[in-house]
Amino acid sequence: MLTQRMQDELNKQINAEIYSSYLYLAMSVHFENKGLKGFANWMRIQAQEELTHAMKFYDFVLERGGKVTLTGVGAPENTWDTPLSVFEKSLAHEQHVTSLINHLMDVAIEEKDHATNSLLKWFIDEQVEEEATASEIVDKLKMMGSDGGALFMMNQELAQRVFVPPTVA
Ligand code: MG
Repeated sequence: MLTQRMQDELNKQINAEIYSSYLYLAMSVHFENKGLKGFANWMRIQAQEELTHAMKFYDFVLERGGKVTLTGVGAPENTWDTPLSVFEKSLAHEQHVTSLINHLMDVAIEEKDHATNSLLKWFIDEQVEEEATASEIVDKLKMMGSDGGALFMMNQELAQRVFVPPTVA
């Protein structure tokens, strides 16, 4: 059984993951409008992946006999100057999500909730990857500078990303 505090925190995280999905969808729209279809594809898949994170928490709360409470999702930012500024925002956002996951883990430890602790280990590993991926793309974009040819190549590369549902924790 989840404690009320743990349940409230998990519900907040469902909202945060749905917001992440919404933010990445806004980034996808931004790239669509710029004609960068590959970048748009990458972000669209990122948005899908974030929804699966939300559903992981959602299913977990239900499995534990808890109550899911859905609340309002705020409008995401939707204008950026350059592909680099989009990915810098994405990296900063993932660093923020990592802090949220770490906070949840602190609560799970305080509540002596071993099952939530176990679920969160998956998310802690996932955040290491999310930050590394965003950081790698930020570095590449910085190296490219204003080289249009390199941007075109990267657009082709990001077009290759396909959605892979995460394995069940
Ligand atoms: Mg996530």
